[in-house]
Amino acid sequence: MQSGGMPPTAFSALELSRFLRERFGFAGFRGLQEPVVQAVLAGNDVLALMPTGAGKSLCYQLPGLLFPGVTVVISPLIALIRDQVRRLQALNIDCLAVMGSTEMNATLSQAESSIRQGQTKVILTSPERVQIPSFLQWLSQCLPPQGLSLIVIDEAHCISEWGRSFRPAYIALGAMRDQYPDTPVLAMTASADQWTRKDILEVLRMPEESIIRSSFNRPELFYRVAHSNAPWRSAIGYLQRYHRASPAIFYCKMRQETERLAQLLDCYGLHARPYHAGMEATARYETEQWFLDAETGVMVATIAFGMGMDKPNIRLVAHVGLDHRVAAYYQETGRAGRDGQSSDVLLMLSNREHQHLECDDGSGLEIALNDREAEAKAQFGAFLKPRQCRRIALLAGLDEIFDGECNACDFCNPNHHAMPLVRENASKWTPK
Ligand code: ADP
Ligand code: MG
Repeated sequence: MQSGGMPPTAFSALELSRFLRERFGFAGFRGLQEPVVQAVLAGNDVLALMPTGAGKSLCYQLPGLLFPGVTVVISPLIALIRDQVRRLQALNIDCLAVMGSTEMNATLSQAESSIRQGQTKVILTSPERVQIPSFLQWLSQCLPPQGLSLIVIDEAHCISEWGRSFRPAYIALGAMRDQYPDTPVLAMTASADQWTRKDILEVLRMPEESIIRSSFNRPELFYRVAHSNAPWRSAIGYLQRYHRASPAIFYCKMRQETERLAQLLDCYGLHARPYHAGMEATARYETEQWFLDAETGVMVATIAFGMGMDKPNIRLVAHVGLDHRVAAYYQETGRAGRDGQSSDVLLMLSNREHQHLECDDGSGLEIALNDREAEAKAQFGAFLKPRQCRRIALLAGLDEIFDGECNACDFCNPNHHAMPLVRENASKWTPK
């Protein structure tokens, strides 16, 4: 197989910064972008663990431009592929999205010559596509002489979270790796506890040394857990008091809840839309676009919404109800404050959930749950119980020891943004 098309020369730090400025319009690299880019350009495998909003896309876009061959990006959702295509086009980087079966025929044969001539720099696709033998066969036939330069797995935690359940194609990504053993692999995620990291390295056959991780601390986020007899109304009250004029996301556990809560928000005169995986693809797309463009407004969604979304000014991410692992919670709440401005993260529990939590001392966990689930539950429990700084507990769940100044959680700074009171009979609301 053709593989491993390396850049013609090594690049000095100065040359890379100049390229970054001229081609991407950024004054400098952020966080660990530069070491990741350097390692990838040197032909090494990298598992980049960087927080949401850190600028992971650039870590493949920049090498993708400098490599003489093609970069293949594997992404879990059509919405994400579309978003990346939009961003690549804005940067004038020629790319091709391979999503559905129709593309396999007409569009692909049209695109072949442009790939072969090295014009198309990036091909974006899903793990399911990669799993189809005819796709890899097609790819190998139309690669330019410089070959496949880089394989990128965006949102790589999906390997661990979904690979073993409903998306086995994620596990099969190892086969692509085997087919192109000399092509470096860049896996990127903002969510990787020890189990997830292990799964990613194993499936992609990457050595432990390929991990480049930055701190996961998001100092601009204020973490709060609250409880009330009317958690929906309390969350709405909080939004009304502190974030009425900004975009917000409310996460619910059930599809039906998203619709009811959006209705309730509407009764309060707040513009809100529900979003869940049961909606038609076009309605989902339309709702995503509405939210991306919205100056204010609340997206009321299940966790089907938000992965990889680049909306900088979300000021509140509120979860209503309890159902979490630290890594997933961190990922979802990380959608707030991507522009680095102070933003709020609220987990709103019912009084019942809260009481249950107070009584649960964690004993007996190991009987019902396997190690991974038991540890995940214990870690999230440590975040929920207000006996220590929430930031310390949250980051501990991502294997990070936080010993800095927090001052941005309800344990360390209880006077920040008091929870508004809600009416006694508030929980009796029924939808129109
Ligand atoms: P992630 O995938 O890590 O969540 P993205 O790749 O979506 O983050 O980037 C988040 C935002 O940061 C984007 O709007 C991107 O244009 C911007 N960005 C990336 N790198 C830089 C940089 N070096 N300087 C300024 N902005 C950057
Ligand atoms: Mg991303």
